[in-house]
Amino acid sequence: MTVRLHSTLSGRDEPLVPGDDGVIGIYACGPTVYSRIHIGNARPFVVFSVLKRYLERRGMRARLVINVTDVNDKIYDAARAEGIPSTELAERCTRQYFEDTDLLGLGRPDAEPLVTGCMGEIVALIADLVARDLAYAAGGDVYFRVRAFPRYGELSGRNPDDMTDTDPGELKEDPLDFALWKGAKEGEDAAWESPWGPGRPGWHIECSAMAERELGMGFSVHGGGIDLVFPHHENEIAQSEGAHDAPFARIWMHNEMLELSDSKMSKSIGNIALLADVVHEWGADTVIAYFMQSHYRSRLPFSDERMQDAQAACRRIRNAVRALDRAMDEPGEGNDAALAAAVVEARTRFFDSMDDDFGTPGAVAAIFDMVRAINQALERGRLPEGQLQEVRLELAGLLDMLGLAGLAEAGGDSDVPAEVLDLLRRREDARAARDFAEADALRDAIAAQGFEVRDGPDGAEVVPAS
Ligand SMILES: [Zn+2]
Repeated sequence: MTVRLHSTLSGRDEPLVPGDDGVIGIYACGPTVYSRIHIGNARPFVVFSVLKRYLERRGMRARLVINVTDVNDKIYDAARAEGIPSTELAERCTRQYFEDTDLLGLGRPDAEPLVTGCMGEIVALIADLVARDLAYAAGGDVYFRVRAFPRYGELSGRNPDDMTDTDPGELKEDPLDFALWKGAKEGEDAAWESPWGPGRPGWHIECSAMAERELGMGFSVHGGGIDLVFPHHENEIAQSEGAHDAPFARIWMHNEMLELSDSKMSKSIGNIALLADVVHEWGADTVIAYFMQSHYRSRLPFSDERMQDAQAACRRIRNAVRALDRAMDEPGEGNDAALAAAVVEARTRFFDSMDDDFGTPGAVAAIFDMVRAINQALERGRLPEGQLQEVRLELAGLLDMLGLAGLAEAGGDSDVPAEVLDLLRRREDARAARDFAEADALRDAIAAQGFEVRDGPDGAEVVPAS
């Protein structure tokens, strides 16, 4: 069976096809770095990171590119409010974005280009569009001539004749036109040289230039949040296909938004949950399970209840892994045929769901089928060592494809309350400072909470006291 993904452009599920080099190129629009990222920004990062992971574990070659927008109006504004240079703010927030997403333990994308590192390609692409009469310079700005690109509106299903909510702009030939280059304005403390004078790129052009640089034209999947379909992705298509007369991306894959108390989650809502805070509170496995339990094209409420559901799901899976490990101490003889059949069935269902438009909820349900079969088999009696190992390996492999390999590790911290983890961190500090009396006192405090400290080569961890 082939992997199929829903494309916003065709409105249908389409087979995923690699490029001529055999690689599935995936480009996803990343964050604008002017503050810490919130849980809503993490959804595309998780969706596209897990998609790449799944394809690779399935034996395909994939290359994931997620850009960082480090030049933008919002960055100038936020830096001015803080009284620091905009480049300093962008560098700090880029670093924080890397740190915060690292907490998820999903690895990094293969490339994470910055706009400031791509100015040459951006200027060259704008110059191509000007040479083709698809763009024009006006008073230090450069605009894309929307009416000169007849397929404009195909992605979003909008007709340019119906677009009345456009900004007329003083220098534009037509209110529909959008900026490719913006001449430097007063109060903006960073500008780059160009044939049209000092300034900076418009937002849309950066993704056209970065995607082409990293993946070439005609790559497999262009992704991002559904809120980017118009105008951002519509404009990317117009720029890239206008400049090259060739398809830009084959499949346009959009994740839905998170909902916080029934409203779309964005930084304009005061009551936002930062990704780092959510991961510290719930643990990375619970956060990833929360995203995987819902289809990427569904709106997803962010609530304590949803997080508790995800936490309970993680606990159930981890308990089954522990039960398998305990059973290995006293193995039996003779394979359990019902368990063997259930494992094959769950595996088939897992792959069928994933191949059908990245159906992670079905994949999670398949893992639960396997967990249920494991629990039932262990209740029926002892299992031979070979089967126990095989089932454990199978379960761990499927979990890894969803970015949940941590659930199959022995021990694990995610069920440990934050105050216990805090005691553990203080103990580590005390040991580093060779204050062993304090370290011992903290070990006792951890024991009083019902947990046991285990020191290993990768540092200490806590497990429920046995
Ligand atoms: Zn983009």
